[in-house]
Formats: sequence, structure tokens, C-alpha cells
Amino acid sequence: MKTPNNLKFTEENVERLYRAMTEDFKHEVLEKPNVAVYVEGDIVSDSHTVNVDNWTCKCPDSQFNITEHELCKHRWYLLLKREGLL
Ligand SMILES: [Zn+2]
Repeated sequence: MKTPNNLKFTEENVERLYRAMTEDFKHEVLEKPNVAVYVEGDIVSDSHTVNVDNWTCKCPDSQFNITEHELCKHRWYLLLKREGLL
């Protein structure tokens, strides 16, 4: 699993990082390399699924808003988890 590089620390991207740290996400490993990210009480579906090999996510924010060097909150969450920061 590589780490995304050249991440941009724009205001929007830092906001997503903040939300990843504060929204109390959980995760569940689906078929590798896919990991579902959800909040307690949500139905675990593949709509917020991160592919941790290539760091893509199926969420609408990723589909419509996020550029190459940014991460959605789901990807930030898994990255922070992997680094032992959450
Ligand atoms: Zn996402």
C-alpha cells in the first residue's frame, strides 16, 4: 500500500482532514483492497469505499470535487489510521 504523495494543503483539503479526525468513523475491510468507511448507525455499503492500493474512493465528494492531490475525509481517515494517528 503506497502513500498518496504531493498532497495539497488547501483550506478545503484540511477541512476534510479535520472531519476525518472528528466524525467518529469506523471501517470494515471488504474484498481487498477495498475498505468501507462509515459512521456508527449507517448501513455499510460500497458507496463510501476506499481502494487502499490506489487511494481512490467512491464517494460523491471524490467523484465531483476532489482533485488529484486531495483526499476525501474517508481516505484521510484511513491514512491517519494506518499511520497510527487515530
Ligand atoms: Zn470518500
